[in-house]
Amino acid sequence: MITRFAPSPTGPLHLGHAYSAMLAHDMAVAQNGTFLLRIEDIDQTRARPQWEDQIYDDLNWLGLHWPNPVMRQSDRKVAYQDALKKLWKQELIYPCLCQRKDILTAASAPQENAPLIGPDGIVYPGTCRERAARSGPIPTTAALRLDMTKACGRARVSPELVQTAGDIVISRRDMGTSYHLSVVIDDAAQGVTDVVRGKDLEDATPVHILLQKLLGLPTPTYHHHKLIRDENGKRLAKRDDARALLKYRAEGATPNDIRQLVGLPEV
Ligand code: GLU
Repeated sequence: MITRFAPSPTGPLHLGHAYSAMLAHDMAVAQNGTFLLRIEDIDQTRARPQWEDQIYDDLNWLGLHWPNPVMRQSDRKVAYQDALKKLWKQELIYPCLCQRKDILTAASAPQENAPLIGPDGIVYPGTCRERAARSGPIPTTAALRLDMTKACGRARVSPELVQTAGDIVISRRDMGTSYHLSVVIDDAAQGVTDVVRGKDLEDATPVHILLQKLLGLPTPTYHHHKLIRDENGKRLAKRDDARALLKYRAEGATPNDIRQLVGLPEV
């Protein structure tokens, strides 16, 4: 068994991250498997080296171990580009120049119903789908979207994703990839057998399984765990510094205190 924890170094790890990491770690250890750490730093506008260092420090403090060197997504551009080329050759992706406000306007046009919300926010109304060229060299100055109808047909999966996710962005103009594409390629490259992550990502999983089918990659087993909430029942967010592990550490908490707080057995 190979599990992983894949944080983005865009802020302090909080109790929810600790829970996710410890669950994935404990699951691998119980099976004599391997727990991997992967740094998901494709969003270079938000990733910071000090947050990456803090991740290593917090996870070490929690008593977790992983093989080094760790995979960092900012080193993986070639792999993402190769996958995009594969999808482009199959005419499954198309360039999109819409701005966020164009999408909102088109999605809330009077003849439409309320805009649907998918794993990435508003479901794209399809403005560029028919007008964009799909041949020639792969465009590098536009976002690339997955033609969901065609993709579901090609992968022989139920077309439900056309409604629930729509033509998701598979490569952001500023990144040359997207969370969905990178996570799928890297889980496969690292041989991850079991993905342990929060229920907040449950909607993204069918998209990931679809991409695996289109790219000929294996589908791991997905486990979606409960979300750690604050006392008001609100989900913890990166900016929730009050729940940062750093803060608990500064107040003298032990790793077993953290385990107890999130409902995991002590070690
Ligand atoms: N990097 C993602 C995050 O920080 C998690 C990716 C995943 O577990 O699939 O939320």
